[in-house]
Amino acid sequence: MSEIINTATVASVREIVGDWRASHRSVALVPTMGNIHAGHISLTEFAHELADRVLMTIFVNPTQFGAGEDLENYPRTLKQDMAAVKAAGTVHAVFVPKSIKAIYPYGIDEAIQVNMPPLSRELCGAFRPGHFDGVASVVLRLLNIAQPDLLILGEKDYQQLVLMERLVSDLRLPVSVLGAPTERHADGLALSSRNRYLSDDERVRAPTLHATLAGVGNAIREGERNYAILLEHAKHKLEAAGFAVDYVEVRDAKDLSVPNGRQAPRELIVLGAARIGSARLIDNVRI
Ligand code: AMP
Repeated sequence: MSEIINTATVASVREIVGDWRASHRSVALVPTMGNIHAGHISLTEFAHELADRVLMTIFVNPTQFGAGEDLENYPRTLKQDMAAVKAAGTVHAVFVPKSIKAIYPYGIDEAIQVNMPPLSRELCGAFRPGHFDGVASVVLRLLNIAQPDLLILGEKDYQQLVLMERLVSDLRLPVSVLGAPTERHADGLALSSRNRYLSDDERVRAPTLHATLAGVGNAIREGERNYAILLEHAKHKLEAAGFAVDYVEVRDAKDLSVPNGRQAPRELIVLGAARIGSARLIDNVRI
């Protein structure tokens, strides 16, 4: 692949994507907040297989951070990010908005926000008020700017994926949303920019989150139907490993509704979020 196009303005993104379209290339958008790791790169590989052109965005979106969250400390590593993306060879252009105003022209306080449906206040949304409204607000803006054919998101942030599918279908946005599998360390810990907040000792204990969710998944696969007891055990296991548990739940994998024993069996997913030290980790396991 020739040089990656690095762009900072909405007008230039429109021009680049316009040129791609004029030559009948399909376009995939991979939005990120930077601090690029192998999980982000795997999304671009997924995108590269499905579309002719891959546009990555790097923007730490202020509206998805709540009061007291890590907006100020969120790792900003643009130089390394560009090197990692270049080495991957799967991205054609990177949009790094030159200021917050490039995305929110009227500023954050005056910005039009998307008001997401009740699912946005469950699971992670119950612990991060307004988070998914902020995610939807930035994703809608990025979709309007780039007008891609595909929006590629990670299954690691599963509730985000389901809610962005909902955003696209409810607002009839002309884009297909696709989820890409979670990239993990050998010990099961999902790659995440927030793993850098872990101390050495916390890093050793962190894979317990994935192991515990996988354990719940295995038990259900083997026929256990008493979810309440399984989830109670899972929480104890996490607490014993030093986590403060936000939630561990079993949901319908399609729409994240609470499974109802009377319905025909559907595909399920175990989701969890737990804090260890100053890191809040999330993960999920499909059943
Ligand atoms: P972030 O920069 O954390 O906002 O993530 C940007 C995109 O990368 C989102 O769609 C995430 O779901 C996805 N992502 C984050 N971590 C991983 C991972 N370990 N494997 C695959 N995708 C990921």
